[in-house]
Amino acid sequence: MSYNVALIPGDGIGPEIVEQAVQVLDTAGKKFGFTLNYTKLLMGGASIDVHGIPLTDETIETAKKNDAVLMGSIGGDAKTSPWYKLEPSRRPEAGLLKLRKSLNLFANLRPAYLYKELKDACPLRDEIIGDGFDMMIMRELTGGLYFGERKTVEENGVKKAIDTLTYDENEIRRIAKRGFDIAMKRRKKVTSVDKANVLDSSRLWRSVVEEVAKDYPEVTLEHMLVDNCAMQLVRDPKQFDVILTENMFGDILSDEASMVTGSIGMLSSASLNETSFGLYEPSHGSAPDIAGKDIANPIATILSAAMMLRFSLNLDEAADAIENAVSQVLKDGYRTGDIMSEGCTKVGCKEMGRLIAERV
Ligand code: NAD
Repeated sequence: MSYNVALIPGDGIGPEIVEQAVQVLDTAGKKFGFTLNYTKLLMGGASIDVHGIPLTDETIETAKKNDAVLMGSIGGDAKTSPWYKLEPSRRPEAGLLKLRKSLNLFANLRPAYLYKELKDACPLRDEIIGDGFDMMIMRELTGGLYFGERKTVEENGVKKAIDTLTYDENEIRRIAKRGFDIAMKRRKKVTSVDKANVLDSSRLWRSVVEEVAKDYPEVTLEHMLVDNCAMQLVRDPKQFDVILTENMFGDILSDEASMVTGSIGMLSSASLNETSFGLYEPSHGSAPDIAGKDIANPIATILSAAMMLRFSLNLDEAADAIENAVSQVLKDGYRTGDIMSEGCTKVGCKEMGRLIAERV
């Protein structure tokens, strides 16, 4: 089998970490009998340098023709990079927002998985961590408060700001279906997070999620209020499998969940649309402070590549092999600088990529 993947190395450490992900993907391809054909695309600062804008229409069209997009990260140092002297719509980050919108990516997935070997980086107490945790935060990405009408008015000399939180049932249904589909590939539990004791949008959310749940009798559904969820994430993160939630709640909870895993260099993410197409990228930025030094941790990008195999290309076995290879490399005591601890062997970005590929 052969698949087409658009590669956006991006800026800063982007090209270094994407190179390692490609090495690991190609090794998995040889082992499991598939080929990936890559098309390299420019976005962010790299595109500004060549085209004067962070994303061209041509790039969007080419990205759409692929089965998935694998990205490094984009952006530079906001204080020193000339890209930030441009007006906001021409800066690197504008390219990413435009790409997400053009590809209609409405579902964002961020796993929060605690590797036993990295337990020391977790800020939670040992008795809370137990045998570790493994959850997937599924956040709606194109609706809700961030996309509703907003305005600031002045009434009788008093300024007033208004934001609106809107969801229609179709928007809720499509993300809920995605959430249940993903739960079916995991431990078959969905925790739907809302604020149904106060918000109408949350009451609609809850009823549509319940309706969708009827098509997934094997999946256990529970509802949780967002304030309680924020608390439960640090009180007992083991209880969660898939957390399904709307845009703003997901924004906040996914950052909280990722922080309890400890290291930013380990966190992968995926953004999906209604087809199997997806954009896969690490949760971290382009780390301009360490770019070009061969010290970046490529694991978040390698794990994003594994998600791409699982969710866009349906190559679960190969995805498992990559995830197991990452676990094994950590068990074998290899660490990049950001996750280094006593008694381990410190390696650079390239060597980490090679060690993981070797274990696939
Ligand atoms: P950052 O995530 O790039 O870096 C924060 C800190 O974490 C830095 O000290 C960095 O060295 C370290 N770090 C990040 N990734 C690492 C890795 N893989 N291995 C080792 N250390 C790592 O966040 P920032 O400094 O706030 O942002 C830098 C640039 O990245 C900005 O231009 C920002 O806009 C952009 N950014 C892009 C994305 C994206 O492309 N999706 C996301 C966030 C930030």
